[in-house]
Amino acid sequence: MLDKQSIIGVVGAGTMGRGIAQVAAQAGHRVVLRDLDPAAVESARIQLEKVLARLEEKGRLAAGEARSVLGRIELSGDLDALSPCEMVVEAVVEQIDLKKSVFQELEEICSEQAVLASNTSSLSIAAISSACAKPERVIGLHFFNPAPLLPLVEVVPGIGTDLEITESCRSMMGAWGKTPVIAKDTPGFIVNRVARPFYGEALRIFEEGIADPATIDWAMRELGGFRMGPFELMDLIGHDINYEVSCSVFEAFYYDPRFKPSFTQKRLVEAGRLGRKTGRGVYDYREGAVKPSPNTNRDKGEKILIRILAMLINEAADAVFMNVATANDVDLAMTCGVNYPKGLLAWADELGPACIFETLRSLQEEYGEDRYRPNPLLRRIALSGARFHDPKERR
Ligand code: NAD
Repeated sequence: MLDKQSIIGVVGAGTMGRGIAQVAAQAGHRVVLRDLDPAAVESARIQLEKVLARLEEKGRLAAGEARSVLGRIELSGDLDALSPCEMVVEAVVEQIDLKKSVFQELEEICSEQAVLASNTSSLSIAAISSACAKPERVIGLHFFNPAPLLPLVEVVPGIGTDLEITESCRSMMGAWGKTPVIAKDTPGFIVNRVARPFYGEALRIFEEGIADPATIDWAMRELGGFRMGPFELMDLIGHDINYEVSCSVFEAFYYDPRFKPSFTQKRLVEAGRLGRKTGRGVYDYREGAVKPSPNTNRDKGEKILIRILAMLINEAADAVFMNVATANDVDLAMTCGVNYPKGLLAWADELGPACIFETLRSLQEEYGEDRYRPNPLLRRIALSGARFHDPKERR
């Protein structure tokens, strides 16, 4: 099936498409990168030249390698250029009708055997593949931004995807130097589902007046080992984008209170305080602005950390419980996709699942909210004294 000789197509030469093309070409493939906007094609060419030259300067590519990697990438505005491709990864903007029409076009010009993949973050593979006569060769390959740097790829078979195609894609991603995990075609796949409480619970703690953003960020960074605190990260991602993902996951889970978006974030979006990109978000990035100091009281900080961590672990347990992914893949996804300091389920094992269960149970009792209900798998593991990563117990 797919191997090193396979020609790889990428549709959409934006942020993700050009990164995916770079990864495939660095893995030795001939690549066709297609965008219908000539300006996007030109900008991708300039960016790829710049990035590859820098890698060579830094010694990450052997002398002369940048030129040969570039030589393997054909940039094109022409749809027919994709016809010899044995696998095409679609990375056009996140609109279902547009994606469906791209897949229909691809079916018309590519061979019957070609694998058709989508890099969608939030649309279902089932919906995209419904446009195709052969949905069994349609799959999700969800790379993370920046694709050349972040190792995770969520491999997402749709409702009718051929098992062999799933396996072939998984091994191809491994050959590209990526860390593939298999995720069920459910909202947010693994990362965008499990990570929600990192933002949502931090916002909730702030809204309740328990701590200010600087203190919550400090607790997650300094006591939890996360690279950035939730507010710092939301300011970097952009509140418009983060809020939209929160709303789409909330809606996709039929308004489960675990995923309820926050008014605080909505107001930031309405006020145009979108984060670093607008100079102001939760924090002020304008010239001369002073970042507020956290309250570094350790007891207080540990309470904040355990509350957010318990909510994250509950989501990780739910992903395993609902067969979205294995415990190993959930942990790999969070460490390789969003740089968490530890796998959440391994972290639960370290702290003791009973401690996480008890934290959630007491939050549920205090607030009387379904949002805090402990997942049945977490409950079972906590009450039986087992571990998530105990090989005998692993699901
Ligand atoms: P982008 O806006 O940077 O690029 C999209 C490109 O697609 C544009 O250059 C546009 O001209 C092109 N395009 C639109 N219609 C086309 C068509 N019919 N044929 C060829 N090209 C077409 O978008 P992006 O951020 O790279 O996102 C692309 C996809 O990747 C989306 O599905 C998004 O959800 C997903 N994704 C994005 C990120 C991220 O952080 N940006 C991360 C993971 C996944």
